[in-house]
Amino acid sequence: MYYVSTRDKKVRFEASEAIVQGLAPDGGLLTPETFPRLPPDALEKLGQMTYQARAVYVMGLYLDGFTQEELAEFALRAYGPDKFDAPAVAPVVVVDGSTHCLELWHGPTCAFKDMALQMLPHLLTASLAKTGEQKTACILVATSGDTGKGALEGFRDVAQTRILVFYPKDGVSAIQELQMRTQEGENVGVCAVEGNFDDAQSGVKRLFSDETLRETLCARGYFLSSANSINWGRVLPQIVYYISAYCDLVKAGKCRAGERVNVCVPTGNFGNILAAYYAKRMGLPLGKLICASNSNNVLTDFLKTGVYDRNRAFYNTLSPSMDILISSNLERLLYTLTEEDDAAVRGYMDSLAASGKYEVDGAIKAKLADHFAAGFCDDGQTKRVIAQVWREKGYLIDPHTAVAFDVLAQYRSETGDTTPALVVSTASPFKFCDSVLSALGVTEFSAGTDILDQLTAETGVPAPAPLAGLKGKPVRFRQCVGREHMADAVLGMLR
Ligand SMILES: *Cc1c(COP(=O)(O)O)cnc(C)c1O
Repeated sequence: MYYVSTRDKKVRFEASEAIVQGLAPDGGLLTPETFPRLPPDALEKLGQMTYQARAVYVMGLYLDGFTQEELAEFALRAYGPDKFDAPAVAPVVVVDGSTHCLELWHGPTCAFKDMALQMLPHLLTASLAKTGEQKTACILVATSGDTGKGALEGFRDVAQTRILVFYPKDGVSAIQELQMRTQEGENVGVCAVEGNFDDAQSGVKRLFSDETLRETLCARGYFLSSANSINWGRVLPQIVYYISAYCDLVKAGKCRAGERVNVCVPTGNFGNILAAYYAKRMGLPLGKLICASNSNNVLTDFLKTGVYDRNRAFYNTLSPSMDILISSNLERLLYTLTEEDDAAVRGYMDSLAASGKYEVDGAIKAKLADHFAAGFCDDGQTKRVIAQVWREKGYLIDPHTAVAFDVLAQYRSETGDTTPALVVSTASPFKFCDSVLSALGVTEFSAGTDILDQLTAETGVPAPAPLAGLKGKPVRFRQCVGREHMADAVLGMLR
């Protein structure tokens, strides 16, 4: 199977090349040329397997040039018991009769980014070997919080890689910042950027197109690569957990084999929900894909009207990993929905770059309405939902997950759709202690990592080990730069 650029499908790469490059040279996203179908007996077979074996099966359908043995080794290393504190890796828990929650935060950084970022480094180092690349891959990441820590942890001390993370100074939680600034490993770097996530992301995009920087780095033995969710090696491992969750629901008798399940996904860059769409395209019986946003509701408007318009106020919300106005992975959806019309996608993206806006045609709008529903939830409501789900179900959720719970409730009351639903839970509530405590009515917060104990005292729920372990860890990184000085920061870290 080949991977093509969403902006020019004549540009074709093998899987390993696509993973090494991250982004196509023309700025498009590398996307599978065709989508494999799950064979009729696949779900039954997968149901009997461990999560690791499910990952090998699903990823193997997309990765020509990788052996089953290789993938099995990667899966054991990425999703083993030393990394994930749940044997199921991505467990599905029952919230009520028709609502289930897919917990994607049992990995080393307690957010769903681990699902992909524990796998990507293995895919990347193998791809470097397969493509004969000798230089060291310098992974540049812009993060709204969770990606950065996930990438640092995934790539730490991985041979032939360096990892540099830029985060918006005022756009991440205190725990998230501490997680990054205390990162261990010899090949890691962390730097704050003045501004919001879009500033950090567009700054990193500029670094990628900075020819002078490229040449200097090349002379030092480096080339730039990406671990942002535009890399196919990030999207692919995410397809696995939708298929896995469906198998688990059938096994637990929560739905019949073949019966549809809706999914509701707290969405930012559109990577997670895109993986659900791809799983559906492979034949997984998913119903509506419900896209949940916070007050940065550009996707809600797009999915309802077909007009994408980023010209709007930007809000720092309680769910910072969804504070995004340009959802990069949407480009892949457009490519598939236009039936691989690369010229049309190029047109949309040119228009987005020039005016911050584009509108898709009627045929695409109809397809969007067929597969997707969308809604959003502000901070006040996010807090009410955290409190409500805790009091009524005894289930503690983080603000991102709360947005999804609320949008699912809105969807159900608007449509009367009673299809069983899977809410995707993307972070441990302990990553956002202050927001969760405040939602539960607490008004005074303990300082630093003591706030983890405070949330435990309030709820009786223990903090995950990787967060409890932050206590007393030395801060290694304190640098903060303006957007215009990011290239200097890179050069400073890559001597
Ligand atoms: C990254 C992230 C999201 C958004 O996921 P996308 O794939 O960017 O849509 C939602 N919640 C949390 C906690 C995240 O870390």
